[in-house]
Formats: sequence, C-alpha cells, structure tokens
Amino acid sequence: MRKKTRLIHGGISGDPSTGAVTVPIYQVSTYKQDGAGNHRGYEYSRTGNPTRHALEELIKDLEGGVRGFAFSSGMSAITSIFMLFSAGDHIVMTDDVYGGTYRLTARVMNRFQLDVSFVDTSSVENIQKAIRPETKAIYVETPTNPLLKITDLRKAADLARKHNLLLIVDNTFSTPYWQNPLENGADIVVHSATKYLGGHSDVVAGLVAVKDQKIGEDLHFIQNSTGGILGPQDSYYLIRGIRTLGVRMEEIESNTRELVEFLQHHPLVNKIYYPGLREHPGHDVHASQAKGFGGMLSFDVGNGERAEQVLKKVRYFTLAESLGAVESLISVPAKMTHASIPKERREELGITDGLIRLSVGLEDIRDLIEDLEQALHSVS
Ligand SMILES: *Cc1c(COP(=O)(O)O)cnc(C)c1O
Repeated sequence: MRKKTRLIHGGISGDPSTGAVTVPIYQVSTYKQDGAGNHRGYEYSRTGNPTRHALEELIKDLEGGVRGFAFSSGMSAITSIFMLFSAGDHIVMTDDVYGGTYRLTARVMNRFQLDVSFVDTSSVENIQKAIRPETKAIYVETPTNPLLKITDLRKAADLARKHNLLLIVDNTFSTPYWQNPLENGADIVVHSATKYLGGHSDVVAGLVAVKDQKIGEDLHFIQNSTGGILGPQDSYYLIRGIRTLGVRMEEIESNTRELVEFLQHHPLVNKIYYPGLREHPGHDVHASQAKGFGGMLSFDVGNGERAEQVLKKVRYFTLAESLGAVESLISVPAKMTHASIPKERREELGITDGLIRLSVGLEDIRDLIEDLEQALHSVS
C-alpha cells in the first residue's frame, strides 16, 4: 500500500456493523460486560475506546510501528514517554527542542531526577560525547524549530543501538507522510498532532508509534495509569484530518518551494533556512531520510524593526504560534516561541530579532507571494 492509500485505508476504516464508511464517534465511558470480567474488548474508555483505537491503529500503520497511542496533547504524549524512565536516568536531547519540551524537562521532570543534556544533535559526535553510564535515551527533533537543523537518524540509531539506548524522535515537522523514523532505526516516534496531522487548527492532540511490543505494553500501561488520553470526538477529527494529509503536504510543499524561490531573490532577505535548499546544512542527510522538505521555513530580514513591519503589513499570513494548518502562519521566534531564551543565547543560536518563521498553508501561492512582496516593500 502506498502512502496516500494508507492514509485512507490504514488503521480501521468504517464500521462493520452498519457499513458506515467513517469510524463512528463512540461517545462512551464504560461498556456492558457479559459476565464479571468478561467483556468484548472494551471495559472503560481510559483503557480503550473504539474511536481512539481506530486512530491509534492509523498512526501505527502510518509510521510502520507495532502499536499506536493517542494522547490529549503533544506534551501529554511526550510526558508519557518520559514516564518510561526512572529517577537517575539520563537523556541526551536536541538543544533547540520545542520550547514546551524544554520546559517539561527543565522545570518538571527535573524534580523527578530525570536528567537531560542538551546538545546540537546535528553532529553525532556531540551525542556520543554526552552519553554517560546512566544514559537511557537519545531524543531528537529533525528538522528543528525555527532553524530547521537536521539530525542524521541512521547515525543516531546506530549510536543508540551500540549503547543500548532508546532513540525517540519528535516527527511533528515532517509528518509520517514525509518521514518515518522507525524505519531508520528509531524506537519511538511522537507527534504533536495539533499541527499537520489535524491540519485545521481545531484539535490539540498527541500521537505516538512504537517499534517494539514491550515498549508498546509499557506505554499502554502508562497511558492507562496516568490517563492523558484523547477523547472520542477529537480522535474522530484527527482521523478526518489525516485522511487528507497527503494532498495537503504535497500542495504545502509546492507552495513553500515557490515562496523560497521568491525570498531568495529579495534584497531584504539575507538568510533563508529551509532544508530543501541545496546549501542548507543537513540538506543531503534530510534528503536521504525523508521524502519531502515540508512547509516550514525561516528567513532573516536583518533586525527586529523590519520584522515588526512585515508582521504588521501581511494580510494572508496570520500572526500566531503553532503551525501545520490550512492557513499560513507567521511568527517572530525571538519575540514569541523563543522569548524565554536570553538574547545572547538566541543570537548565538541564530535566532535573531529579525528572524521570521513561516508555516506555509494552502492559499493560492500567487496571493501568498504578492502578500509577502507588499509587506517587504513597506519596510524602509
Ligand atoms: C507543538 C509541538 C509540541 C507540543 O504539542 P502540543 O500538541 O502543543 O502539546 C511538541 N513538539 C513540537 C515539535 C511541536 O511543534
């Protein structure tokens, strides 16, 4: 089954008892038992719910795993993954991970003695150097936000195997349509399904797929014990969003390519970060482990005032955090998602005040280009 077909026919499609072609929303908490302890596969919806199960089967199939999980948010999914570890364990993590993941490790999990080292994982040597006897996992995002740095998944997986560590990959930016980390040696893949998978800015959710039955059992135990499950209604919306992921990602990528080309020729733009550019660091690695370059890009207009002016003038790019939806979004990481990082450290990383991040949507590309053109033109 090819990717686009799997998006439609993967997981569980329809309802065998009625012939309904969509999975019904099983808005239910508990299930009648035929005898004490004798149920028909479902007993209580925290443990399992048929609509959520259909979604969990779908993400399992899309990522090529053995088991899938749906959580109430990306952060809930990531928290549950951290619950696989114990006090005293150590994780090596990409240094520019999603801000919420950083906050969770630095301000919540630290209180449970889960220790994390942040390194630039785009060099595997950096990961190697950070490994200690207590290290239990490598956690990476590739591409990263907002500079689209790339980690070599196969090399990271080799290192993980050699040291008996789990490789965990946050695949939110690439989606399973473009990139399947489990096939490149990762053990666990996690998504903020709030972004491309949902795709319409109307659901907050997290999805996980795992490669190994034992990890699957452990994670189900944690999901059932801690309870961060996705409800049936949101599970339904997410299945519905995922069915069109292929056409959306193809169109978004085509829009992004054209937008990058426009920006490359604009005199105000002095740097563009997009993995699809041949000169982008990690371009070749990304091309070897993913089938597309996605719809996220950042570019630098030189200073904060200019960035501010662009934000004020755009009409079709909505100023908002988040990404991956049908509508194009614009943000200035230094003032928004990355504001909590000290300015010096930000500049070191390349997250300057003039850096603008775009999540390209599905509008007519001619409108998007004209919009950016007039906004950049207004900059004095
Ligand atoms: C948004 C995001 C998260 C967090 O997901 P929520 O659904 O907002 O909880 C995690 N990782 C990445 C890369 C994200 O973009």
